[in-house]
Amino acid sequence: MKLYNTLTRKKSDFKAIKEKEVRMYSCGPTVYSHAHIGNLRAYIISDTLRRMFEHRSYKVIHVMNITDVGHLVGDGSLGEDKLKQTARIEHKSAKEIAKEYERLFLKDIKKIGIKMPSIIARATDHIPQMLNLIESLERRGYLYKAETGIYFDTSKFKDYGNLSGTDFKRLNSSLIGGARIERPSGTRNITDFAVWRFSPEKEKEMVWDSKYGRGFPGWHIECSAISMEYLGNHFDVHTGGVDHIQIHHQNEIAQSEGATGEKFVNFWVHNEFLKVNGSKMSKSLHNTYTIEDLEGMGISPQGYRYFVLTGHYRSIMNMTKEALGNAQRTIASIHSFIERISGYDAEGKPDREFIEEIASLEREFFEWMEDDMNTPEALASLHALISVVNKCHSTGKLSKAGRDAVMATLLKMDSVLGLSFKEHTETKPLAAEPKRLIEEREKARQSGDFKSADEIRQELKERFGIIVEDGKNGSVWRRQ
Ligand SMILES: [Zn+2]
Repeated sequence: MKLYNTLTRKKSDFKAIKEKEVRMYSCGPTVYSHAHIGNLRAYIISDTLRRMFEHRSYKVIHVMNITDVGHLVGDGSLGEDKLKQTARIEHKSAKEIAKEYERLFLKDIKKIGIKMPSIIARATDHIPQMLNLIESLERRGYLYKAETGIYFDTSKFKDYGNLSGTDFKRLNSSLIGGARIERPSGTRNITDFAVWRFSPEKEKEMVWDSKYGRGFPGWHIECSAISMEYLGNHFDVHTGGVDHIQIHHQNEIAQSEGATGEKFVNFWVHNEFLKVNGSKMSKSLHNTYTIEDLEGMGISPQGYRYFVLTGHYRSIMNMTKEALGNAQRTIASIHSFIERISGYDAEGKPDREFIEEIASLEREFFEWMEDDMNTPEALASLHALISVVNKCHSTGKLSKAGRDAVMATLLKMDSVLGLSFKEHTETKPLAAEPKRLIEEREKARQSGDFKSADEIRQELKERFGIIVEDGKNGSVWRRQ
C-alpha cells in the first residue's frame, strides 16, 4: 500500500514498524463548540485509512486525544482560552463545557460511520505525563523561562522545520531583525512555543501545581505526551489537517524527538482543506456547518461522508449546496440498489463471466485504495460494478450465485468506505399502512382500474417514499 508522506514529500510503500500491527495517532477536537464539517473531513480520512489497514489484516491501535484544556484563542500564544471563553458566555464551568461538546463530537463521528478510536484520551487526564515530558526536555536543555510560561527553544532542535520544509532559522532572523511580529515577552525565537503556561493566582479552573509553578500545559505538549504514552516513542502513522503541518505537528516532532532522541513518527498523513462556496471555512467567518445543519438541509451523515470520499484527501474540496445534493442522491441510489439486489431471488445458472467481471472490479477498487487512498477512482469502480449488475439484472440473467458475489464484493468495499451498506442488505419490513396500500393497488391493477392504481402509486411515493414498479412478474416496491 502506497501513502504520501508529508515528511519525505513523496509516495512510498507503507511498512509497519511491528509486523501486522499499525500504531496511529490522530489529533482530536478542542471541545469548546460543535465540530464543524471541515474538521470532520480529517476524521473521515483517518477512519478510512484505519479501515484500509484493517482490510490489509493489520491490527490497528488508533489513539485520539480530546483537547479539554489550554487551547488558546487564535494561532499565537496570546489571548483567552477558548474553553474558558465559551464557559463565560454560556455561564458554565469549563469542565461542563468540555464534557458536553465531547459527548456531541462522539455522537457526530458515530453518525458518519467513524469507528471509535481504540483509545480516546482527554488532555486533563494526562497532566502528569505532560509534566514528565517537560522535565525530560528541561534535562536536555531545550527549555527556558519567559514571562508567561516555560518555552521550547526551537533554535536548539536541529531538524526544526523538516516537516513543512521551511528554513526557520532564516525566517526567525529576518522577522526578529525587522521586529514586526508580536511575540510573548522574553521569548527568543518567533517559532518558540510554550510547553507550560503560568496562571494568575486568582485563576481557579483548569490549573495545576507543578515544579514550574501554577499553570496549564501548552497544546502541542498534549499530543506528544498522549501519543507516546499509548503508542511508544516511535510509531507508524500520525494524521491531521494540513493546517497543522507548520506549527502544531512541527512542534510535536521537536518535543518528542527532543525528549527521547528517537525518531517520532514514520508516516505523516495530512488531509487538505474543505472550502465552502469557494471560501475558507472558519468559525470567525461564520460559514461553518455542523452535521445537524446538514441534516436540516436533507443531507444525511452518509451523504456527507460520500461527498468527502468523492475528493482525493490531498485535494482541496469545495462544498456547495449542489455538490452535497448530488452526493446525497448518489448515496441514496446506492443504498436502494443494495436493497433491491439483496431482495432479488433469482434462480438462473451462475454466470462465470459475470462473476469474473465483478472480481476484476473489486481488484480495481482496492488497487485504487492502495494507491494513496484514491477514493474518487475507487468510487468509479464501485459505480462501474453497479452498472454491470444493473445491465445484467435488466436482461433477467442475474443468478443467485452472481447476486451473492456482488453482495460479498459490496460489503468488502464498504468495509473501507464506511457508508453503511450492510444496513441496507436486508429489506426492512413495511409498516401496516403502506403494506395495505400496495395490496389495494395490486387489486386495482388486476381489475383493470389503472386510474386508482396510479393514484395509490403516487400516494405511496409522496407519503412513504416507496416506489412501485410494474414488471413482467407483477409489481415490486423499493424505498426511494
Ligand atoms: Zn495534535
